[in-house]
Amino acid sequence: MASSCQRCGAALNIGASSCPSCGAPVAPAAQPSNIISALCYLGFAITGIIFLLVEPYNRDEDVRFHARQSIALSVAWIAFSIVMGVLIAVLPGPLSHLFIMLNRLGDLALAILWLFLVYQGYIGNRFRVPVLADWADAVPF
Ligand SMILES: [Zn+2]
Repeated sequence: MASSCQRCGAALNIGASSCPSCGAPVAPAAQPSNIISALCYLGFAITGIIFLLVEPYNRDEDVRFHARQSIALSVAWIAFSIVMGVLIAVLPGPLSHLFIMLNRLGDLALAILWLFLVYQGYIGNRFRVPVLADWADAVPF
């Protein structure tokens, strides 16, 4: 989503701190929401929660979606790590080694998904990850 100057209406460059046409300072509210949407994922649930609480970002529906999905991804990753950790500890030798491998593959897949979502936020696409997006909708704020 491109933003425009509050005073003269000229198009603003991404991340610009002042208007290239009239020189008016750009308020944080006028910062493109796609940058903030990408930032929602950078600190996982922490940045997700921050951007759901901090004005004016928490009034932007794109930002809200990505913030919630970031929280959902974090919860899924933590849950996955706990389940795998328990299985690795409890299962006998050979099976334990299998789950150590599965754990690494899962971490790799989640890291790739995380990177993909940073990019989806950046291009302003509300990409809904199956299941995770439903969890995201359930975030109560
Ligand atoms: Zn201007």
